Amino acid sequence: MAGAAAATGGMLLGISLQAKTPKDTSMSIATLRKACKGRIVAVGEPDFKKAVYGGLWNKRIPDRAPDVVVRVADEQDVIAAVRFARENRMKVVVRGGGHNWCQPTLRNGGVLIDLTDLNKVVSIDVEGRKAVVQPIISNREAQKILNAKGLAFPSGHCPQVKLSGYLLGGGMAWNPGIWGSGAESVEAVELVTAQGELITASEKENPDYFWAARGSGSGFFGVVTRYHLKLYPLPKAIHGITYYYSLDDAGAVGTWLGERAAKLSPSIELSLFLLEAPPELKKKAASNGGKICMVTGAAFADTPEEAKASLQPLESCPIKCLSGSFATPLVFEQLFDASGVLWPEGVRARVEATFSDSSPGEMVKAIRAHMTKAPSPTTVVLFTIFTGPNVPPPLPNAAYSMSAKVYGGPWTMWWEERGDQRNTDWHQECATLLRPFNVGYYIGESDTVGRPSNAVGAFSAQNWHRLADLRDKHDPEGVFFGFFDGLSGTP
Ligand SMILES: Cc1cc2nc3c(=O)[nH]c(=O)nc-3n(C[C@H](O)[C@H](O)[C@H](O)COP(=O)(O)OP(=O)(O)OC[C@H]3O[C@@H](n4cnc5c(N)ncnc54)[C@H](O)[C@@H]3O)c2cc1C
Repeated sequence: MAGAAAATGGMLLGISLQAKTPKDTSMSIATLRKACKGRIVAVGEPDFKKAVYGGLWNKRIPDRAPDVVVRVADEQDVIAAVRFARENRMKVVVRGGGHNWCQPTLRNGGVLIDLTDLNKVVSIDVEGRKAVVQPIISNREAQKILNAKGLAFPSGHCPQVKLSGYLLGGGMAWNPGIWGSGAESVEAVELVTAQGELITASEKENPDYFWAARGSGSGFFGVVTRYHLKLYPLPKAIHGITYYYSLDDAGAVGTWLGERAAKLSPSIELSLFLLEAPPELKKKAASNGGKICMVTGAAFADTPEEAKASLQPLESCPIKCLSGSFATPLVFEQLFDASGVLWPEGVRARVEATFSDSSPGEMVKAIRAHMTKAPSPTTVVLFTIFTGPNVPPPLPNAAYSMSAKVYGGPWTMWWEERGDQRNTDWHQECATLLRPFNVGYYIGESDTVGRPSNAVGAFSAQNWHRLADLRDKHDPEGVFFGFFDGLSGTP
């Protein structure tokens, strides 16, 4: 069976273990309860729905559910939960922070291992610039603790997202031109295998797991309980620019930024947004459905002079902006606040974030008219344009395989269930318009549930096949749900 599945790349679909009914497992659940310090909630019990759906970021929640949720208190609980699943021929899915947009932590049946309480910073070595953390540390918490010690880590952009799945998927980080992706700064992981063993994986020790843990996202075949991180000195002068342009000019601005990007310092994180105009520019945006183009740049430097000098070329854009601010001093807290406003809590969402080597101008032109019809004012289209002479190369020794000049797409967000259809239609059309420009997808921010080919497209062909082979080798019985199985029901 394994051979046939591997031949079609089918191990990534996962082997359907014959799950017993909750009734069959009730004795074992009692045993599991005795073995675990954490909380166990089985289907039919009070609070089951809260345990399954309560912590999810995207409020567009499908009705898939596990048979039992094990909210683990420590590594020993993770081991007990995996062994319980094996003994009962049930499959396992892991819940990190529950922030993945397309809800891969919801599968039909099996055991959901919820890591919510693995939320400690284990150690920080200031001199050696290293830290060991449990997975459920948020981007904001990580930077706050490290920045206070003069250190920093390439965390993600939004304050509330947890390192857990962010690092596992690759990690589109702050300051990517200098620090690279989040996964690039993972030096080792501790994990529980499909056999229920706690192991450490690094370049030298259990290297297959280390390779997979850096980028396989929801295709990983283990439970990561600790990340060993490489840290960096905190840049002493972070400065930001913000310019607003008419949506009519967004294509030309995108073209100019695309041409400039290679000559800019890699220490600048450059982004072009299409989004709802701020109140003071509402009138000027009226003819474009209230939408506007915003360009932001953050320079991560050591002196204000260095930051200003690196941002200076962005002042010379020949297209006239509607308003702007140059070289505002910032700290990480403010960067998180700004991202938090754009990606608020409590929304319903669809996302398709992709990589492209095309001009951001061409991509903007393809969707400019469509943007004016976005039904929700919360929706954002973002293109991050990598700066510096070289596009960040693919990460060596990692499943993460993407590398391109531009990263982005639509983050379609709305508030009410009755808006689902209209926003979904708008989102799908936007994604379709951008598809001709795509060279790949990001496993952490695209819909791998509704559009499984996005998962395949997040990896080079070589890495996709290697991941399938490693899954065959290390999880031959398919204890962990693969990318695609257990997902029938509402996408
Ligand atoms: C508001 C917002 C902003 C975002 N900004 C960024 C950004 O700046 N950069 C970026 O790269 N991404 C960003 N993301 C995407 C986010 O990083 C990924 O979706 C990531 O998967 C979320 O991590 P999580 O722990 O919440 O994942 P979950 O939703 O809990 O899990 C996602 C998948 O990873 C697996 N998984 C998670 N943790 C573990 C673990 N410890 N061991 C084994 N498997 C695990 C799960 O089984 C699941 O299949 C953002 C998401 C949101 C909602």
